[in-house]
Amino acid sequence: MSLLPPFRELSDSIKSIQDSWFPCPEKLLDLAIESHIAHLEEESLLERDDPFFIADLGQVARQHRAWKQGLPEVQPYYAVKCNSDPTLLKCLADLGTGFDCASVEEMRTVLSLGVNPSRILFANPCKSAAAMDFARRAGVMLTTFDNIDELEKIKVHIQDAALLLRIHANDDSALISFGEKFGAHLNIAESLISRAWNLQLNVVGISFHVGTGASNPQAFCQAIKDARHVFGLAERQGFNPAILDIGGGFQDSHFSHMTPVVRAAIQNEFPSQVAVIAEPGRFYARSAYTLVSQVIARRRQLQKSASMGALNMLYQNDGVYGNFMNVIMEKEVMAPRLFSREKSKGRPLVKTLKKPDNERTTSTLSTPESHRYSIWGPTCDSIDCVVREMTFDREVRVGDWLIYRNMGAYTLTTATQFNGFNCSRKILYVNSESI
Ligand SMILES: *Cc1c(COP(=O)(O)O)cnc(C)c1O
Repeated sequence: MSLLPPFRELSDSIKSIQDSWFPCPEKLLDLAIESHIAHLEEESLLERDDPFFIADLGQVARQHRAWKQGLPEVQPYYAVKCNSDPTLLKCLADLGTGFDCASVEEMRTVLSLGVNPSRILFANPCKSAAAMDFARRAGVMLTTFDNIDELEKIKVHIQDAALLLRIHANDDSALISFGEKFGAHLNIAESLISRAWNLQLNVVGISFHVGTGASNPQAFCQAIKDARHVFGLAERQGFNPAILDIGGGFQDSHFSHMTPVVRAAIQNEFPSQVAVIAEPGRFYARSAYTLVSQVIARRRQLQKSASMGALNMLYQNDGVYGNFMNVIMEKEVMAPRLFSREKSKGRPLVKTLKKPDNERTTSTLSTPESHRYSIWGPTCDSIDCVVREMTFDREVRVGDWLIYRNMGAYTLTTATQFNGFNCSRKILYVNSESI
């Protein structure tokens, strides 16, 4: 099956550009955005009310190459919770990754793509009995645990499972750390291992997760050291552990300085053969998705409040209850680019606002100061602020489009329907690698 549904939605002009030359990824993205906006502006008002994503599957392939270059001995199991778009999952399946699933629904999604259950790691150390039954029936036999009660449940529901003991690890500087919720501390690892032995379960390795958006390679080094220690405990018990799972937490901005340190730590602690796997999410998904939202309303401050520092306000059709939860969860600072209408043949949606209504606002708006805005989501909640402050090089009007890069991680999967706003998003696909 071809992975390229892409240009269904795009205009013929792009198709011919695609056929005739190889555009750089940025250029292709811009063309796709421009073309889709032109298409939307022909549609009814309701059709164009939602933001849309452009996903570049070529970028996913480039991330995979970067992974193989940085961590060639480490087999990635993509963490589905990061972005479960089936087209992305299919692309990853074709690239040869495994999958880290935490729920029945995630396993179902991956299995429905024809992925062999042996490529799925059920990486949730606190699973329901029903989820274990599902996994067993589906043939997903690799899973994690970090507590005694889980072992008792595993004995009843999926006793032939291959088990990874998840140990505690933590990067304090990670965007979101998991150390408080999951992971057995070293002082109880021994009792967990001996309980697993007594229950005649099969411990095949150790896993950890230092936290999502990690930046400190020392957190990996410490966790790898701890894993080696627990490997020793398991071996002494009589198990034959052979898998080291170094979890997720990788991000572009730290990948190149992190990977040599991680590789060295693995080689130091595990000189003999172990299979090393990882559970990257953000690393694969983030940079492949671009979100395009539309300005649906604007509040201009009177000259008086403006002079006291109040910013003009933009309201767009997506916010922290939609695809921008990272603004709150990860304190991410968003910096959209304004879609340049001049380049396209499209007309502004709200013609009356094209020209400022009177001379006085014109002069206010023409000072550079007045291109500073705060940007808000569509809900009625006042925490729904996407950008606190941002300066554009020109005035932003109702109907304008804002382009947010790097929107593939923890966006589609965390969006809610709060306040009645639709959380299903249109995704258009391009592939900057296979043309
Ligand atoms: C969320 C999660 C991941 C993915 O983390 P990233 O920071 O996106 O790489 C991997 N493993 C587990 C167990 C997770 O909970």
